[in-house]
Amino acid sequence: MAPLKLDILIVGAGMAGLASACALASDGHRVRLLEAAPELSNMGGAIRLPPNAVKVLMDWGLHGKLQGQSSIILTTTFCDLRTGEVIKHTEWQSDVFKDSGGEFHMIGHRDLCQMLYAHALFVGVNISFNSKVVAIIPPSESTPTSSLVTPRNVRPNAGPSVRLSTGETLHADLIIGADGSNSILRPIVDRRTSQIYTGTTMYTGIVDAESVENNPRMKDIVELGYRIWMGERCYAMAPRVQNTKEYAFHLAQIEDLPENEHGASSGWRVVPSTNVRRDGLNTQLQFFLDSAPTLTRARCFEHPSVEDWVDPSRGFVLIGQAAHPMLPCAMHQSSDCLESASVLSTLLSHLRKPSQLSSLLYAYEDLRASRAPQLSSFELLNRSWLSLPGALGVARNEDMRAAAVKSYSARPWAENANGDGDNDGDDGGQDLAKHWAEIAWLWGYDAGEDAEDWWIKWGVLRERATLEENPDGNGGTCRLHGYRAERGHGFLSIPVSRV
Ligand SMILES: Cc1cc2nc3c(=O)[nH]c(=O)nc-3n(C[C@H](O)[C@H](O)[C@H](O)COP(=O)(O)OP(=O)(O)OC[C@H]3O[C@@H](n4cnc5c(N)ncnc54)[C@H](O)[C@@H]3O)c2cc1C
Repeated sequence: MAPLKLDILIVGAGMAGLASACALASDGHRVRLLEAAPELSNMGGAIRLPPNAVKVLMDWGLHGKLQGQSSIILTTTFCDLRTGEVIKHTEWQSDVFKDSGGEFHMIGHRDLCQMLYAHALFVGVNISFNSKVVAIIPPSESTPTSSLVTPRNVRPNAGPSVRLSTGETLHADLIIGADGSNSILRPIVDRRTSQIYTGTTMYTGIVDAESVENNPRMKDIVELGYRIWMGERCYAMAPRVQNTKEYAFHLAQIEDLPENEHGASSGWRVVPSTNVRRDGLNTQLQFFLDSAPTLTRARCFEHPSVEDWVDPSRGFVLIGQAAHPMLPCAMHQSSDCLESASVLSTLLSHLRKPSQLSSLLYAYEDLRASRAPQLSSFELLNRSWLSLPGALGVARNEDMRAAAVKSYSARPWAENANGDGDNDGDDGGQDLAKHWAEIAWLWGYDAGEDAEDWWIKWGVLRERATLEENPDGNGGTCRLHGYRAERGHGFLSIPVSRV
């Protein structure tokens, strides 16, 4: 529980907004969540929850609910996208998950959002649908007292506010922009908003497991489990979700969609599956497409990293896609939302007086600004590795076959690259080992622990220093500038992960 409770407005009830609402309200902050849509998204598609994301849900007491809604991934089978040939089957050893402290789940996007929504209500979040924010108003001396909750703790008479499309104005101590990649808050906090279309489109859909199990052509999918198909500049995957009652699948294709075809502001749109080009897809993938009448589609954009995630003097914070847009259906999209929510709430749980707020928000920025690019660069590398063209793809497949023959270990960070004890990469296993090791390193991260570490190493120190300088405990905002100046000399060098 945070000793000093804030009035917090969160813009956007996607995964990042719901996750931060759950975490902050659990710590006693008064949270109101504003969503433009009339209800939670009900689009069919699935999302991966790697161990680092699952650990956050476990911390919030949601592990049981997660198990009822998702499926655990214990194996991965890599296949050729065109022919369907199995290239390598990996069984993840239980040690992998023991070491990382979590599990690897796959869940329907709507199921995860529903789960977080129910939890947000349970911990007392006030959620308003049909509440589109049309303007962000920075704090000023003339701002009237909050209509949300009074009195505001941090900036009496000077908090930031938002205006809704209805004309209503809401005030708070802190406003969190969780409003996706076209965030209304982002240009205020960080002006760089450019994006580059990668030329790839992502489709995701859900298929009833019974229809898969009853089809002889799908027999080995049922037997071998989670499957990834690797093709030339495209790839696909199909894990089970909904406690194995459904299959989800993702398909990434090169596709030159016209500008006006990229959907609503979120970029996600429901389309008939007959829209998808099928040439070059093996028969199992075609079966998935035939079995899902509609798919959820998003065009893939690359965005530059934001430099500024927070504007403490005005009380603004960015989270999720608004802060750090990632490619659609990325493995670590969920990680980014859940980890950020956990880091932010853990830091703010130490808030005892208003003067601390700035340094805690800058700590959030520092921790996330170093972690989030690691998550997206992994995704970019992973995607290019799964969709290598021509001779590169052939060489990758040969490496994987060779590694499969040598019973390549699925615990590579504990053993040598090629499993034969010499780690010389003579079977091409070294690149693969590096790839797996990076996965393991990312999975081992613990967001809550990272934020607590910051508090112990730097937060407490700063507290003591401020107290010595100012024994009445009323540190001024001038400390904030000192903190910013120090960022390059210590704060950014905090190790973010202990794997
Ligand atoms: C409809 C939808 C379906 C998706 N399906 C999948 C999927 O199947 N698989 C997958 O891997 N990922 C999916 N995603 C993406 C995934 O949820 C996100 O990319 C990622 O998890 C980060 O979420 P976010 O909360 O930061 O942003 P988003 O998920 O984009 O959520 C932003 C939210 O803010 C709301 N919003 C935007 N502007 C305003 C405003 N001015 N005022 C109030 N509210 C506003 C939006 O309506 C939206 O609900 C989907 C996203 C959406 C929006």
